[in-house]
Amino acid sequence: MTTEQAYSRALVVVAHPDDADFGCAGTVAKWARQGWEVFMVICTDGGKGTTDTEMTPQRLRAIREEEQRNAATVLGVKEVAFLGYPDGELEDSREVRRDVVREVRRFRPDIVLTPDPYRATHSHRDHRICGQVTLDAVFPYARDYHHFPELAKEGFLPHKTAEVYGVMSDHIDHYVDISDTIDVKIEALKAHVSQIRDREGLAERVKERAAELGKKAGYTYAEGFHRFRFQR
Ligand SMILES: [Zn+2]
Repeated sequence: MTTEQAYSRALVVVAHPDDADFGCAGTVAKWARQGWEVFMVICTDGGKGTTDTEMTPQRLRAIREEEQRNAATVLGVKEVAFLGYPDGELEDSREVRRDVVREVRRFRPDIVLTPDPYRATHSHRDHRICGQVTLDAVFPYARDYHHFPELAKEGFLPHKTAEVYGVMSDHIDHYVDISDTIDVKIEALKAHVSQIRDREGLAERVKERAAELGKKAGYTYAEGFHRFRFQR
C-alpha cells in the first residue's frame, strides 16, 4: 500500500488565490474524486495581483476570493478559509504562525501541501514565508499542546500531520499522476479570470509542464513535489 492510499484528508496552505491551482490542482482534484476531504487556506487577500492601476486592492480582494471559491468548487474542495493578510506583507510572525496552526488543528490533515520554502532560486516572498510558516506549524507547533496554549482553550487540540508536499519546488522527489484530472486543473485555473491574460494558451502551457514532469515518472501528466515526512 502506498502511503497515499492510507490517507483521506489533505490541507492546502498557500499565499495567494491561484497558487494552489497552478501548483497542485490536479492532485487535489484526484484525491477529492477518490473521496478524500480536501481543505484550503489562503493566507493573503491577493489584493495587489494586477497591472491595472485603476483597480483597487479592496475591489480585487473580493474578486479573487470569489475566483478562488469557484476554482475550489471545480476541484471538489470541501472548504476554503481566507486568513486575509495583505498581499505582499505576509510575515513569519507569532500571529501568522498561530493562525496557520489553528487551521492545521481545525482540518486535521494527513498531508499538507504548501510552497516549498527551500527553493534554491528566488521565489515570491509570500510563498517563501507561507511555506516556512506552514512547515513550522505542522512540526512542532500543531503537534505540541503547550505551543499556542490559547488554541487549546479555543478547542483546537494538537494534531500530527504525516507529510508535507512542497509545491513549486526545484527539488522534486515525488510525482503524482494527474492524467485523469489535468482537464479539471485547467478548468480550475480558468476560474481565476482576473489573473489569466492568455486564456487561449493556458491549457497548452499547463499540459506542456505536466507532460514534462510526467515523463520523469512514466505518467502522461504529473505534478511534482518535495516531500517532507514526520512521525505520527
Ligand atoms: Zn502566489
